[in-house]
Amino acid sequence: MKKNPSCRVRFAPSPTGNLHIGGLRAALFNWLFARHNGGTFLLRIEDTDIERSKPEYTQSILQALDWVQIASDEPMVIQSERIREHHRMIDQLLVQGKAYKDYYQQDEFFELYAAKYGSAEFAKAYHICRDQEQNQGDKPYVVRFKLPLDRGSITFNDMIRGQITIGTEQLDDFVIARSGGFPMYNFVVVIDDIFQEITHIIRGEEHLSNTPKQILLYEAFGKPVPQFAHLPLILGPDGNKLSKRDAATSVLEYKYAGYLPDALFNYLVRLGWAHGDQEVFTRQELIQFFTLEAVGKKGAIFDKEKLDWLNGVYMRAADDVTLCATMTEIDPTYTDMLPFDDEQLVQLVHLYKERSKTIAEVMQEIKTFAHEPAQYDAQAIAEWVDKDTPALLVSLVNLLQTIDSWQLNKIKDNITAVAKEKGKKLGAVAQPIRIALVGGSSSPSVFELLDILGKDESLRRIELLLEYLQQMPG
Ligand code: GLU
Repeated sequence: MKKNPSCRVRFAPSPTGNLHIGGLRAALFNWLFARHNGGTFLLRIEDTDIERSKPEYTQSILQALDWVQIASDEPMVIQSERIREHHRMIDQLLVQGKAYKDYYQQDEFFELYAAKYGSAEFAKAYHICRDQEQNQGDKPYVVRFKLPLDRGSITFNDMIRGQITIGTEQLDDFVIARSGGFPMYNFVVVIDDIFQEITHIIRGEEHLSNTPKQILLYEAFGKPVPQFAHLPLILGPDGNKLSKRDAATSVLEYKYAGYLPDALFNYLVRLGWAHGDQEVFTRQELIQFFTLEAVGKKGAIFDKEKLDWLNGVYMRAADDVTLCATMTEIDPTYTDMLPFDDEQLVQLVHLYKERSKTIAEVMQEIKTFAHEPAQYDAQAIAEWVDKDTPALLVSLVNLLQTIDSWQLNKIKDNITAVAKEKGKKLGAVAQPIRIALVGGSSSPSVFELLDILGKDESLRRIELLLEYLQQMPG
């Protein structure tokens, strides 16, 4: 496909809640579309719903976008700051006779319509409304757009779904400003998209029914209609719309649950978009390969296991120092309570990230490892401890005591030597040590853990197990 460097796209969230993953995916698709084409990505906060919009939601949306490193190429537009312009454009339509003031209350309008004409002749109902006296003093009114009744059906080419046709009989004289003068979403979105010179509107499928109304408004203003692309929904495992039961829906929850932004980015782009069988993409590759033509029409099922797998892939590839910084971003007090210095932490992250799905899991593992085991796993003891074990551990402690400079290779050599001397397999020595260090028979490399923990703490933990074993009946 030829690139289109003059394309301008936008992500236009309403701050009526936190950014959810469906919203983030729309943002990513817009961003990738812009980057792929060498075009412009813009951000607009649609805060004109004054009852439901909250500044704290704007903040959390911006934080979430910042977290995934998506930024507007031009200063962000705050919709409420353009309210005078919205009013001006409503007045323009009123003056041009393309909109009218409706002093009936909405229910009254429909009641009147139903009583007079019945549901079959919908168009006639407009005349009741349209022929109203347009200046009724202080009486409250809504402003309705005058549906062009001779317009015929509205056809547009959705870049994902192909040609879509909607008959105007499915529309009505929709309200563009509520009583009190508040302009409605379908109106302001068009005014601001014209203002920001948006060429492609990429947004969720839930907006599909708004598109014909918006096209009519572009036509009323004599402006070119942008291209539309409606993204399929994200579905839960049961095939229904994704709900809070299926997945955390707020993006920042993923941050605090220990997912890496690049992993979530990669995962969400693959949700509904494919490039052959490839699963793991660098951001550069996504920019290179992304096209709307490769976005599917069908809803995409959210698969938490796949996200976990992908996060593991990204964690293993990530730099350990960066992961440590991420841990304190997740919890600024995290390292305060730990007996490890920066170097030890980096080493522990390196070991535990191999076995974990999220950074939060790594953090929990390290936190547990920071203290001697609260208890020993009975099954591990039954499997790995026999009557010879206490003597073995005593020899081991004695030998390890003699090590002056506590280093990985020396630790390894000494433990191997004890096993050999006692005619035991390495596991017969290493597993009891593991139980001493972590309480059970599963952990990263025992040698590395001993190395990180240091001589004193390592020996203390082995001696604690020894004490425990000596007190064990039988
Ligand atoms: N503000 C709308 C929303 O959050 C999006 C508008 C649009 O993309 O056209 O759903």
